[in-house]
Amino acid sequence: MSSALPIEKTADVAADRAEKMAALPNLVGLTKEQIKGALVSLGIEPFRASQIWQWIYTKGATDFAQMSNIKKETQALLAQHFTIARAGISRNAVSFDQTQKWLLKFADEQEVETVFIPDNNRGTLCVSSQVGCTLACTFCHTGTQRLVRNLTAAEIITQLLVARDGLGEWSRATATAGAKKGITEKGGKNKSEWAVSQAPRQLSNIVFMGMGEPLFNYDNVIGAINLMMDGDGLAMSRRKITVSTSGVVPKIVPLAKDAGTNLAISLHAVTNDLRNEIVPINRKYPIEDLLEACREYQSIVSDRHIMFEYVMLNGVNDSPEDAKEMVRLLKGIRSKVNLIPFNPWPGAPYTCSSNNRIHAFGRIIMEAGIAAPIRKTRGEDIMAACGQLKSLSELKKGQKVKL
Ligand code: SAH
Ligand code: SF4
Repeated sequence: MSSALPIEKTADVAADRAEKMAALPNLVGLTKEQIKGALVSLGIEPFRASQIWQWIYTKGATDFAQMSNIKKETQALLAQHFTIARAGISRNAVSFDQTQKWLLKFADEQEVETVFIPDNNRGTLCVSSQVGCTLACTFCHTGTQRLVRNLTAAEIITQLLVARDGLGEWSRATATAGAKKGITEKGGKNKSEWAVSQAPRQLSNIVFMGMGEPLFNYDNVIGAINLMMDGDGLAMSRRKITVSTSGVVPKIVPLAKDAGTNLAISLHAVTNDLRNEIVPINRKYPIEDLLEACREYQSIVSDRHIMFEYVMLNGVNDSPEDAKEMVRLLKGIRSKVNLIPFNPWPGAPYTCSSNNRIHAFGRIIMEAGIAAPIRKTRGEDIMAACGQLKSLSELKKGQKVKL
């Protein structure tokens, strides 16, 4: 475990940044049209919107004073009325396996966690969509947090910007943007820019698998995905973004139409009786309805497999019969199954299935022709693994956690 800044200093910076975010309307998180509207209200030329956009999303600017192609007076006018501040970072912890966690503080002092998981050929950022979660899946730490509110699109996208800051990725992002516009074809200097743009970025994938149920915060999640996919900015492909849901059935087909990202379903049980108990949203939207929505999703987003997440709970959902039933249920859906070893948290009512049992379960699924990798547990020592996230402000009340 290590911290980027001493804790007190981090707290000061966090408070300062959160204050800035609160004081003035933030241009981060707005659409280009909304930024244009904001500029026009100050008498600033609307074409400046795309310059500001690029400064925020390809160069990582956090201050109007950095915008060298905008006049000083205009920078000052902008700074009087708007901000482009990020959320504050209350804590930043790095695991022995290089998984990194940021605890972010927003203007109202609420906090969420964001986790970066580097791997051989990709780096995945696990973003939160809500403070806490209204659902109460029995194996999930976030579900025990009482305090809940939706994040705005700005608060979702700021998680990506903070991670890019932390990973030092902006120059590469800038070079990539230049390369796309053909700037690289002009000479020696540009050749080196091209070389930089070819270096793989660490942060390549986004998963909505942090705190909260993304499909209960549908509009803001779609807003944030649109910002991620904008070709003049972060330019992420829908294929690199995954939305995970516990099964908010009415929003699954709209997600296919509005975003077309990868879809992950937190299945975790193959009978309605058990799923009603451990994933309570199943009482409203049972397994048959959920799988029907998945079939429809795939008829629209036809080039992607659907990922079914399955947390391995010792003696609860991990029998060979459960595996066979899963194979039967998934017939007709191009699926991948992701077996997730249960990650413990203070007071959790479960233990993780044994390795043998997880492997036996996976074998049955793979023999039916469905990929069923076992998810590597990452960032366990900093409580950053799946299902362990919970805001520190809540944890402080009674539990001790190493950060
Ligand atoms: N609310 C959404 C997204 C966040 S949860 C959803 O439920 O899909 C991300 C994943 O972590 C889900 O599959 C969730 O079920 C799983 N998870 C939750 N608690 C866990 C735990 N203690 N151990 C392992 N995985 C867990
Ligand atoms: Fe909420 Fe997902 Fe956790 Fe269930 S698993 S409580 S839906 S965050």
